Amino acid sequence: MRIGNHGLFIPGPTNIPNRLRQAMDLPLEDHRAPDFPAFTVKLLEDLKRIFKQDEGRVFFFPGSGTGGWEAAISNTLSPGDTVLASVFGQFSFLWVELCKRYGLNVQVIECEWGEGVPIDKYSQALRADNTHKIKAVLACHNETTTGVTSDIAAVRQVMNDAKHPALLMVDGVSSIASIDFRMSEWGVDLAVSGSQKGFMLPTGLAIVAASEKALAASKNAQSTRYFFNFEDMITNNDMGYFPYTPATILLRGLRASVDMLEEEGLNNVFLRHHRLAQGVQKAVVDGWGLSLCAKTSELQSNTVSAICLPSGYDANNVVEIAYHRYSLSLGKGLNLLAGKVFRIGHLGWLNELMVLQALAGTEMAMRDAALPVAAGSGVAVAEEHFRETATAVTSTPKIPVRKQVVNL
Ligand code: PLP
Repeated sequence: MRIGNHGLFIPGPTNIPNRLRQAMDLPLEDHRAPDFPAFTVKLLEDLKRIFKQDEGRVFFFPGSGTGGWEAAISNTLSPGDTVLASVFGQFSFLWVELCKRYGLNVQVIECEWGEGVPIDKYSQALRADNTHKIKAVLACHNETTTGVTSDIAAVRQVMNDAKHPALLMVDGVSSIASIDFRMSEWGVDLAVSGSQKGFMLPTGLAIVAASEKALAASKNAQSTRYFFNFEDMITNNDMGYFPYTPATILLRGLRASVDMLEEEGLNNVFLRHHRLAQGVQKAVVDGWGLSLCAKTSELQSNTVSAICLPSGYDANNVVEIAYHRYSLSLGKGLNLLAGKVFRIGHLGWLNELMVLQALAGTEMAMRDAALPVAAGSGVAVAEEHFRETATAVTSTPKIPVRKQVVNL
């Protein structure tokens, strides 16, 4: 029997704040009620601020991030169309697999896992495409397998430099609502997310933002679609309804999630993720003497860290010990990285002490797995980082300094 909170430090699903749980503790409601549109129309509009989107629309479908990929592809492309993509982890790989099953001709740039979107190679491919055969450029903003964040503004820049009219499609499943994302400024045409990561909700919604250009492309796209059809969704959303039964409880949760993100302030959300990520990454490198999978520090993700173990150690063993002995869930290494890395998810509703809990449990599990890691080494480094960068979390006017306490 488990006592106390289980530590959920996988890179999604993430911890659900009490406020969101309460917002979803509701009886089921009539999704065709006359006052339902007042709720949905505003939510659809407000979500655009989270994507930093000035035009176009946001859709939500019952589903997950994978459904979001499918919605983006099936609504805007036709079998035989060419797309430019890169693979540097399991999720960028799976998106390419999905494209292939839709009969697309995928021009894939294979990268080493731990690298990000290969900007120079995208530039070359786009410049070489004089006939504009490439209809969409795919980019995984945050590759959750390797803990790598790519530069989407740079992808847009090389598309503009090549004067290339392709759609820019971005997988933001593990970045949006945690890492800065600027749909309109970066000229993103389709951005895909899901409810269970930065939005801090249970799995169950695919959230997809589409630009006006993407919506125009959807008028001509020939791929088969029914459940994910933008057109059907638009017709119904315009009246505040859905073409089929929506996940009303999740939508109520999403309302509260958007409110929480905006009350904290999106920039503060991004800064908090950055600061927590730095604590983890310093613990890994300076405390434990291990390396991160991301090839450079600029690429290191603010939502997930993939930690490489020296050869001779099985990363799955660490994950299993953490789970069984310390009630701590860490992410396993996926595909090519299975057994070589484990991952700490640090996104969503999270603070310093929660991160220290994860680091302490990880450290204990690594020591149990005979890794040469000193007790407290990672925790100590992260503690110092958090102390040095601390800001007040409440408005309590005065915290007595230690000297005064001793003098009392
Ligand atoms: N893309 C990225 C970057 C992901 O991390 C994930 C899942 O973790 C997906 C896509 C697939 O999303 P889902 O599992 O919600 O279908």
